[in-house]
Amino acid sequence: MIRAIVGANWGDEGKGKITDMFAEESDIVIRFQGGSNAGHTIINQYGKFALHQLPSGVFYEHTVNIIGNGVALNIPYLMKEIESLKEKGINPNILISERTQVLMPYHILFDQYEEERLKERQFGSTKSGIAPFYSDKYLKTGIQVCDLFYPDRLKEELRRICEVKNVLLKHLYNKPLLDPEALFDELMSYSEMIRPYVTNTFDYLQKAMSENKNILLEGQLGALKDPDFGIYPFTTSSSTLAGFATVGAGIPPYKIDTVTAVVKAYSSAVGSGPFVSEIFGEEAENLRRRGGDAGEYGATTGRPRRMGWFDVVASRYGCQVQGATEVALTVLDALGYLDTIPVCVAYEVDGTVTQSFPVNAVLEKAKPVLEYLPGWKEDIRGITDFDKLPQNCKNYVLFIEKALGIPVTIVTNGPKRHEVIRR
Ligand code: GDP
Ligand code: MG
Repeated sequence: MIRAIVGANWGDEGKGKITDMFAEESDIVIRFQGGSNAGHTIINQYGKFALHQLPSGVFYEHTVNIIGNGVALNIPYLMKEIESLKEKGINPNILISERTQVLMPYHILFDQYEEERLKERQFGSTKSGIAPFYSDKYLKTGIQVCDLFYPDRLKEELRRICEVKNVLLKHLYNKPLLDPEALFDELMSYSEMIRPYVTNTFDYLQKAMSENKNILLEGQLGALKDPDFGIYPFTTSSSTLAGFATVGAGIPPYKIDTVTAVVKAYSSAVGSGPFVSEIFGEEAENLRRRGGDAGEYGATTGRPRRMGWFDVVASRYGCQVQGATEVALTVLDALGYLDTIPVCVAYEVDGTVTQSFPVNAVLEKAKPVLEYLPGWKEDIRGITDFDKLPQNCKNYVLFIEKALGIPVTIVTNGPKRHEVIRR
């Protein structure tokens, strides 16, 4: 059984918790894209963790956690994450694909320098080096993990890379130049750190599939941050779609049995870009305070997230581009304070109402068409049976299910592991 768990919104839908639930039943959990720029929050018997690069199966002794070839691997950061688990007595099983590319120290610098240069036109990057990393990967000036173990070739490659980078550093950014020798030494220290984890994960997975192992593909961010189908250029730089999981992990496309799209009961987003159902001021602050478990502040950056009402147009589109076979509707408990709950059911663009998710030039002009559903004004945490939810709460879920056209099989009503309703 192979399941992909992916976001259908702008990220931070609560994928970490859903993945954690399924990780327990999985033999293998794989991260297939992204890097340390986003985070999952997981609360379990060991405490509260913000996982950035580590797959969510790291808490289970029986689960092998793979960092797939599609990931942007920040090695020192990964070591810190592993260390923080070890401090709590957890010894994770980790494998890193030999084809995963290495996020270089200069990727982080270029990310910072470019945002500085753009000033008020900046993208709101987390400055983790993700965009420069993926540009280099596709420009074919990236370094694969396996390259770290062939020092002579690596040295040559670094010289070639620094030649180009230094032109930009000198003439565009006015910043200190890169020294290929110093970089080489740094990479040699990385190679020692990760050597025990690196392997041919492709062969490993071929074998695992032939043995019918349970495999979980774990997505980062959400559909609307996908560089092809999202709100480009306010997206991330690697595909966030379940379809890409097959590439970023090394699995045949027809092998994915279930795509679980995680959808939040309201909207939140980080970074710039159009966000049609966005709310502001006190209205936003009220929702932000109740959202998530410690409020809607980024797991990686601590930045307050932008808030909005549930957006049917964006979420249905998000589920469609993910190819969702089921939906996990999360953080429903956060809405319990509202008398009536606004839901964005369509967009109005220049006087025309549409339910089709448009390109950015149109999206930027779109106004939300709101419908108001009655609230339930009750704390629903602790309820584990769908039928025991207040009627208005059930109606809210059923309204969303109908609007998305995909069965909502999971509802979460609290950040903790057991705070979940399965239908
Ligand atoms: P991810 O990036 O999709 O994994 O999501 P994040 O972990 O960044 O953000 C989701 C936040 O919501 C975290 O703080 C979770 O602990 C929290 N959370 C997840 N599910 C629920 C829920 O059902 N109710 C509440 N109140 N918080 C939740
Ligand atoms: Mg997150």
